[in-house]
Amino acid sequence: MRRAEDRSSGGRQGIDLLGSHLRRAATESSVAGEMVGRKANRSGVGWGHCVSMAFMASSSQRNRTSARLAAIAESATLAVDAKAKALKAAGENVIGFGAGEPDFPTPEHIVEAAVRACRDPKMHRYTPAAGLPELREAIVAKTRRDSGFATTASQVLVTNGGKHAVFTAFAALCDPGDEVIVPAPYWTTYPEAIVLAGGVPVIIDTDEETGFRVTIDQLEAACTPRTKVLLFVSPDNPSGAVYPPEEVKAIGEWAVKKGIWVITDEIYEHLTYGPHRFASMPTLVPDLADQCLIVNGVAKTYAMTGWRVGWMIGPSDVMKASINFQSHATSNVSNVAQAAALAAVAGDLSAVATMREAFERRGRTMHRLLSAIPGVTCIEPQGAFYCYPNVSGLLGKSLAGKTANTAMELADLVLSESKVAFVPGEAFGSPGYARFSFALGDADLEEGIRRIADLVARS
Ligand code: PMP
Repeated sequence: MRRAEDRSSGGRQGIDLLGSHLRRAATESSVAGEMVGRKANRSGVGWGHCVSMAFMASSSQRNRTSARLAAIAESATLAVDAKAKALKAAGENVIGFGAGEPDFPTPEHIVEAAVRACRDPKMHRYTPAAGLPELREAIVAKTRRDSGFATTASQVLVTNGGKHAVFTAFAALCDPGDEVIVPAPYWTTYPEAIVLAGGVPVIIDTDEETGFRVTIDQLEAACTPRTKVLLFVSPDNPSGAVYPPEEVKAIGEWAVKKGIWVITDEIYEHLTYGPHRFASMPTLVPDLADQCLIVNGVAKTYAMTGWRVGWMIGPSDVMKASINFQSHATSNVSNVAQAAALAAVAGDLSAVATMREAFERRGRTMHRLLSAIPGVTCIEPQGAFYCYPNVSGLLGKSLAGKTANTAMELADLVLSESKVAFVPGEAFGSPGYARFSFALGDADLEEGIRRIADLVARS
């Protein structure tokens, strides 16, 4: 178990090509830690004091960017993707395993709904901050259909993507110093969102031995009187793990017993493979509903990453505060995107089924190819669209005459030598691993892994 201060210590070893964004994640977590303390102190200081301090400090003495924002690291996954795209634009034949987005176009009926919305003058105006009433109703019906959880439209907030729902959820729950338990490997955005909200991420490490799933014993050991929230994600990004229903239930019951909130990120609910199935925690543990926020969105299920529609569901008091927050921060999400999301969630799941089948096939292929590389061990993905192999067997070895000592250095080496991009585990708080997205075409997928296998075989 680790506290925020050392949440990405693996990131301290530098690399060049993938560069500064990953290194910053490491060095600035401590800045963020101090920031929490400073915020807490500042709340006890009167305005007069602040104003006079502001006059005393010359502009050259003061930070141009606030410490709060300067502490945020660039999204490493987006940065890797951008790097691969930049190399591609420069004429390199790069294969990118970085992006966490389906390669399929958004289904036609969804696009058509957006086109109709564009032509409707009603949609050219502000609409309620919490979301279009018909979309909130459709999300209620969809949630009952897909996860068996009963809620009401007033408990739904439509957000600018699932990411915005994640930020809102932590902002809604965290006071300065509140601890949030975060199992690692974790999606790279969570610790940033927690720290920005004033919270302190408390990291629990998991690995392939336990299928990247936390145990109640680990949760118990991480829990302190300051623990406010447990972050729970299944299917998981980046590990591809899916918790079986009995473990989901046990963790939910543990949270109820402890009086801890759960933020459950259900964005990959429809992407599960083989015998693995998504199970919603507040459905299995109804007593949790009063201390649970559900985060979800259309991005992954309907190939709608660019449309930016997500949502958060929770108890009325927290939702009311969150809606007030959104009314000042963003007002309503784009009406056109909401109309598209309405067509998506109100429609059937046939398009999703086709995409799920393709992902399952690609996940199996990728797992087989990665596992055949000496020095790489990989559990078969159970959900989402990522393989998360342990690459520590490749570290310290000579590859094309160079040696990588960390997953970050390996990512850099493979990008420069083989023109293949993946996201090193440091970005997810677990050095020694690497995330490969299989949301790309079959031919590219096979070619990309073959290039890595060749690099290793040549060395
Ligand atoms: N949660 C998880 C676990 C994710 O992987 C992502 C996207 N990578 C999101 C939330 C946010 O998705 P979006 O903002 O595109 O809806």
